[in-house]
Formats: sequence, structure tokens, C-alpha cells
Amino acid sequence: MAAQWRSGEPDTANQSPPFVDVDLYASDRPLQSAVAGNGAGGEAAALAAFGKHWGSAEMFDLARQANENPPILRAFDGKGFRRDIVEFHPAYHRFMADSVAAGLAASTWRDDATPAPAPAQVARAARFYMAAQIETGHLCPITMTRAAVAALAAAPALVAGLMSKIMSRAYDERLRPWWEKRGITLGMGMTERQGGTDVRTNTTRAEPASEGYVVTGQKWFMSAPMCDGFLVLAQAPGGLTCFFMPRFRPDGSVNALHFQRLKDKLGNRSNASSEVAFDEAFAVRVGEEGRGVRTIINMVQLTRLDCAIASAGIMRMALAQALHHARHRTVFQKHLSDQPMMRAVLADMALEAEAAVALVMRLARAFDLAAGDAREAARARLLTPAVKYWVCKTAPLFIDEAMECLGGNGYVEESVLPRLYREAPVNAIWEGSGNVMCLDVLRAVSHEGEAARAVLGALAAEAADLPGARETADFIAGALSAADAEAQARSAVGCLALLAAAAALRHCSAPQVAELFARTRLAVRHGAMYGTADIAPNDAGLLLERALPSV
Ligand SMILES: Cc1cc2nc3c(=O)[nH]c(=O)nc-3n(C[C@H](O)[C@H](O)[C@H](O)COP(=O)(O)OP(=O)(O)OC[C@H]3O[C@@H](n4cnc5c(N)ncnc54)[C@H](O)[C@@H]3O)c2cc1C
Repeated sequence: MAAQWRSGEPDTANQSPPFVDVDLYASDRPLQSAVAGNGAGGEAAALAAFGKHWGSAEMFDLARQANENPPILRAFDGKGFRRDIVEFHPAYHRFMADSVAAGLAASTWRDDATPAPAPAQVARAARFYMAAQIETGHLCPITMTRAAVAALAAAPALVAGLMSKIMSRAYDERLRPWWEKRGITLGMGMTERQGGTDVRTNTTRAEPASEGYVVTGQKWFMSAPMCDGFLVLAQAPGGLTCFFMPRFRPDGSVNALHFQRLKDKLGNRSNASSEVAFDEAFAVRVGEEGRGVRTIINMVQLTRLDCAIASAGIMRMALAQALHHARHRTVFQKHLSDQPMMRAVLADMALEAEAAVALVMRLARAFDLAAGDAREAARARLLTPAVKYWVCKTAPLFIDEAMECLGGNGYVEESVLPRLYREAPVNAIWEGSGNVMCLDVLRAVSHEGEAARAVLGALAAEAADLPGARETADFIAGALSAADAEAQARSAVGCLALLAAAAALRHCSAPQVAELFARTRLAVRHGAMYGTADIAPNDAGLLLERALPSV
């Protein structure tokens, strides 16, 4: 019997079936190519299992629940005593448990806090990219936990104690001292009310005490407040310094982190972001006094990589939803996906999404190899801000277009697109906003000029046979070293990411895809809208089949 729509009317269909129970790995050839091309092909079976689980109808529904039921701050109890706890919906805890169990918070480290061997970064990046397609909010404490290890390395005794809890694959949501827990998560508090980017304006003070330091001040944004400890910047006698601030003091009493309120955010609703006051809170120094930025930047470099991976992931989900719908919806006697103009839009988007995943996986590969290869370390240093800039700034526009592919359905919550759309801008803002990423590229060029030029030369060589590569490399070199480099930086850094994307596609994708990307993004400037690139019908077919097999 045909399914019925309200009040007994027959279901006239022409609606796409739900896009659930999707194998996020097997249905994504660009991801498979990027994984194989960056040394993690041996992980294919495990990634396929991960993709099947995360793409299940159950996980889609849990994501809806986690975001429809945002966290609640319980600052006080009924008698006015401080509680300072945040309650999350069970669906959020489920995502946390699954991500921790899959190693997203730790698998790029060894037990001694040294980097795990390749392809740990690429294999984790592939999982992170798939998880982000389903639920992004919970990935905030996940990314901070794994990244914190890079900063904590400056405090060997501390990290030695914490490491077994960080490496644990058990998620323990209880508010208990970290040493009593099965596993822990870590956050970060840098941004203050008077300045986020310019952390030198931090006013939070740290005074040496008989044990550790006593920290007093505020943070205007501190996400995932139920983490077990935070890396915090504060002004010590010797200057801005990085500290580890646990939720409990060594004597087992609750530490003085007082949450003032939770931010009412555009998106990222499953995740809590707090305003917090430190009232003589206990903290342990990480690294030398006065070297706070240098210490915490090692963490930030990793969270920036994850921002780009997550944005590539949500672009992927938006594209897959759009393509799925267009293949089922008929207008004027044809499937939407066969209407020439819609095909042009989808193919152009598929090309962009394939470039994004190739780019972030190649960057993850650079992190995999950085410890033993100075050229790869230089690549990671120069390209992380450029890739974060381009991918995270691209995602909101991309998702807007994907939403439109579903017509009115795309604007309605059940379609998932509104959540992806609200989620997208935050990756461009936090961990350093767009301009700040461009300034960071300029900093790399001015401080490590020779290494940066070598990276640019390598990218130009890798993309040498692609249209526009040489001219793009020349433009970047000129613009980044010009007298008015800051004014030109967005243009130059955008081109740097595009050149790196072309090189990444050349390395791991089908040759036509790399050629098409370069022809429509390097040899000419791509228009502001998708669907304006010159892509022949056969090439469009290739791109769409790679993006999502039609059977
Ligand atoms: C949801 C959410 C969660 C967050 N969670 C955390 C957290 O857990 N921990 C934490 O520490 N922070 C957190 N943040 C804060 C975030 O990292 C900052 O908002 C961000 O770094 C920007 O800092 P700001 O807001 O002070 O803006 P500002 O520093 O005032 O910057 C405003 C704008 O000016 C631009 N700009 C800055 N300097 C220059 C320059 N020299 N030239 C040109 N342009 C410039 C920036 O790119 C930005 O676009 C969070 C933010 C959000 C939205």
C-alpha cells in the first residue's frame, strides 16, 4: 500500500528518500583517493566500518537530538551555593563516547606524548572528517584534547601524569578529579573580553604560590566547560604564560572556575561555550614564564588543522545531501541532476569539495611526516593557516548553495542543511579568524622566509603541468613579499591554498579532476557563484559519480 501523507491523501512522492544509512567512506571516492594517496590506504577497512556506523540513521537522529537540546548551565544550587556544572543531553555524551573510543582525541600520540607514526594523522583526519559530517559541536573538546598534548609537552612531568588519561579510549563524563577518572578531556582559555586575537592584552593574573600558581581573572570564551582541565593564558611575573588549570585542586576540592553564563550561539549548539571567572584558581605552569604564546601555539596549530578538516566534512555532507536530492527530484520531466544548469552547479561544487578533502588530507600527511622531514614541517607551518583560511571561508557559501539545491526543503530543519549552515562560520572565526590566518602566513614568510619559499617552489613543481600553476606561484611570491603585503594578503593566501589544492589533487585524485580544478581556479578566477565554471558535460558526469555513486 502506498504511504500516505496527512489526512489520507496518497503520497505523490517526487520527494527524495531520507539520506540516512549512508556508508560515509564507501560512498566518497574523493575521500578514498585522498586517504590512499596520503599513506593511509591500509586503514580502508577500519575507515569503512567507521563510515558505516557514523552514517547510520541512528547517528543522524542523535545529532538532531544533541542540537535540539543544547547544554544548560547550573551555576548555583537552590540554596545559592556554586555548582558550576553544565548538563548535556545524552546524545551529546554518546557522540563524545564514540569519538573518544575511535581515538579522535588521542590517536596521533604515543603514550609518552611523542607523535604516533604515520599515517596516524591521516587516518584520524579521515575519521574526523566523517564524524564532522554528522555532528560537529562535540568535536570541540575532542580536537582540544588531542591538540593540548602538543602544548603540554612543555611540562614533561605534568604530561607524564596526564597521558594515560588522555590516551584512554573510555569517555568518563563524571565531574571528578582527573586522576580518579577513566579518561579525560581538555579545553583552552585564551580569549578575554578586551581582546581575543591580541592575547598580549590579557589581564588575567597568575601569582606563584606554595604549590603551583593562583590565577585570578576572566575568559570571555571558554568552550566545553566540563572538560577536566584547561590550558589557560595568564600574566605571570615573567609575562604572558601558559597554565594547566584542572577542575579540581590537588587536595580534591573543586577548583575556582566560576561559569558566568553560556553563549547563545548561531550554531554549534550541542557544544557549550562559557564565560568564566577565575577566583584564585589553582594552576600549574606549562613552559617558561613569558613564553605563553609560543607554548600554546603548538596546540593551536593542531586545532586549526581540525577546523579545516571539519569544514571540509560539512561541505561534503551538504554536497551529498544536494546530490542525493537532485537525483530523486523531478522537475519539468527530468531529474534535477539532469537539468543542465543544476548539473553545472553540482559539478562545480563537487570539484570544490574534492579539492577541500584532498587539501586537508595532504596537510594531515605533512603533520604525519613533520617530525622527521624539515620540508614537511615547513609545509605544515606555512599551509595550516592558508588551508584553514580557504576551506573555512569557503564552507558557508558552499553550504548556502547546497541548501538551495533542495529548494524549500533545504531551508527546513529536518533537511540537516540549516544546521550545517549555522555550524559553518564558526570554524572561520575561532582558532584565529580569516585575517589572522593571513597574518600568520605573512609571519611564516617573514620569520622563515627560505623555508616558505621552498614550500612554494615545491607546490609549483608538483602542479607544474597544470594550467595557471606557474603564474599563480609567481603571483603569490610577489604578493607575499610586497611592501603592502598585508593589504594583498587575502588574495595571496587564497591563491596559496588553491595552488596547494591543485597540487594535492594532482597527487591523489583522477588526473582530469586536478586539470579541471586548475583550469577553473588557477588559470582563471572562479566566479562568486557555483555553476559558473566552464566544466564540460562529460567532466561533470565524472565529478558527480566520484562525489556520490548514482547506484
Ligand atoms: C563559539 C565560539 C567558541 C569559542 N571558544 C573558545 C575557547 O574555547 N577558548 C578560547 O580561548 N577562545 C574561544 N573562542 C574565541 C575565538 O577564538 C575568538 O573569538 C577569535 O579568536 C577572535 O577573537 P575576538 O573575538 O577577540 O575578535 P578580535 O580579536 O577583536 O578580532 C575581530 C576581527 O578583527 C580581525 N583582526 C584582528 N586583528 C587584525 C589585524 N591586525 N588586521 C586585520 N584584521 C584583524 C579578526 O580576523 C576578526 O575578524 C570561541 C569563539 C566562538 C565564536
